[in-house]
Amino acid sequence: MSTIAAKDVPVGGTPVLIVGAGPTGLVLALWLTRLSVPVRIIDRAAQPGTTSRALAVQARTLELYQQIGIADDVVAGGVKVPALNLWVSGRQRARVRIDAIGQGLSPFAFALVYPQDAHEHLLIEHLERAGVRVERETELVHLEQHAAGVTTTLRTKAGEEVFETAYVAGCDGASSTVRHQLGIEFPGGTYQGYFYVADVHASTPLANDELHIDIEDVDFLIVFPLKGSGNLRMVGLVHEHEKPDRAVTFDDVKGRAVDRMQLGDARANWCSTYRVHHRVAPRFRDGRAFLLGDAAHVHSPVGGQGMNTGIGDAVNLAWKLAAVLKGEAGAALLDTYEPERIAFARRLVDTTDRGFTIVTRQGRVARVVRTRIVPAIAPALFRLPAMRRLFFRTVSQINVSYHDSALSEGKTGAIVAGDRLPWIKTNGSDNFAPLAALQWQVHVYGRARKELEAACSALGIALHQFEWNKAARDAGVRDGALYLIRPDGYIGLADTEADVSRLRGYLARFDLQVVD
Ligand SMILES: Cc1cc2nc3c(=O)[nH]c(=O)nc-3n(C[C@H](O)[C@H](O)[C@H](O)COP(=O)(O)OP(=O)(O)OC[C@H]3O[C@@H](n4cnc5c(N)ncnc54)[C@H](O)[C@@H]3O)c2cc1C
Repeated sequence: MSTIAAKDVPVGGTPVLIVGAGPTGLVLALWLTRLSVPVRIIDRAAQPGTTSRALAVQARTLELYQQIGIADDVVAGGVKVPALNLWVSGRQRARVRIDAIGQGLSPFAFALVYPQDAHEHLLIEHLERAGVRVERETELVHLEQHAAGVTTTLRTKAGEEVFETAYVAGCDGASSTVRHQLGIEFPGGTYQGYFYVADVHASTPLANDELHIDIEDVDFLIVFPLKGSGNLRMVGLVHEHEKPDRAVTFDDVKGRAVDRMQLGDARANWCSTYRVHHRVAPRFRDGRAFLLGDAAHVHSPVGGQGMNTGIGDAVNLAWKLAAVLKGEAGAALLDTYEPERIAFARRLVDTTDRGFTIVTRQGRVARVVRTRIVPAIAPALFRLPAMRRLFFRTVSQINVSYHDSALSEGKTGAIVAGDRLPWIKTNGSDNFAPLAALQWQVHVYGRARKELEAACSALGIALHQFEWNKAARDAGVRDGALYLIRPDGYIGLADTEADVSRLRGYLARFDLQVVD
């Protein structure tokens, strides 16, 4: 494995400073550490978050976690949701099973709920095991870029510190100091009204590990299962006119919920309100500084996408930074971070915006759609295998693709470079197992030509040959074609002819020195 060039390690510094130890910063730190890049990760808070906040851990996030060996711990800590129930004004109107909704599409074919505080603790534990500690009560207050690196000013308990680094990763949340320091705006808006979120304990038949969504004329309520008998998370709306002058308490909101959803003795452990914004920064990068997670994009929690998108940003940047720092790729590789991630963030803000508007819009038409049309057609639609697959593909983020990226070249039938590598079961294993190497690799389903075997060996790139089977055919890959897979599991090059000169040309374009 190559090491980091001395020119990229500033005197007295570390090559990457990660600002913010929320889920985005922690995952970036974990991936970089696994890629042997020294990091410094700071957070101005004295301790990690203690509230549940984002709950949904999507299948794509679990796949990325599997690559660094932590997926099983996350799954073990969470609750797999077996079914989704639709209620209208306190009456159950439909129940749809979702326990194997993504069967055949991902090793993580289920919906997982895992509260953000527990999630962050687990990431911190794994990071500490890898020898990296989050430096708490350490705040970035200033940064200045120069040709060779970034000079940052940090406020610590011991006073101010000037710290030199090669790259800064701004994972410092919606009010990001890094973004302010770079002079990058955060255009968008703020929705009317508030969400309330409450973690409650209740003895109720609804505490059955299932998801319950109650739709009302001017309201909605979602009840998520949490680990432990009777533990639930409630999310609902507080309309602008209902908000008291003081902080909203559970007593202010529990009446409607308790009546409608038979949550008789519900007691809150935690209750909070938050305003929902929809904003995307126009740039995710300025020179040696990058924006990731909520620092770059915020949107409504509809669909449970926010935290997962930050984690996707972190992985996308991690392997690129590592390759450039280790001299395994030209600096142009870093130019691909922003276009790949900003395109997805913009699409996501648009779709969650539409979803949020449907859920919260007032007026007669909206009411009829919500309380009559949706409950009538949603269960039937959900029973159609094609709809279930489409729903899973979209919500789980396995459909996120980088077709327009400079890193994406070629197609083979339905598979287009920039797609996530489809998951294919093989005899006793699967085609995701080799992704744990976190390295570029060539996949061939069926037999690879001798010429390709020789070229991969000469280039030092791992060649994985998988049996040609029904799962491969169903996934859309072509027998004998060449698939060059990026360290994050996306297809960089797809070539039906398995043309060796095309592989060499691709690697040369980005100065990629692939290390097996
Ligand atoms: C009440 C609440 C409920 C939510 N519910 C949901 C939900 O149901 N579903 C969903 O998807 N999302 C939800 N979210 C949003 C979700 O929590 C965020 O999307 C997620 O935390 C983003 O992760 P992040 O790491 O990018 O940023 P954050 O989690 O915001 O982490 C940023 C970190 O940076 C630190 N920091 C900030 N400035 C500095 C600085 N200058 N120097 C050093 N450190 C700094 C902060 O202390 C913080 O720890 C909720 C948020 C809140 C507040």
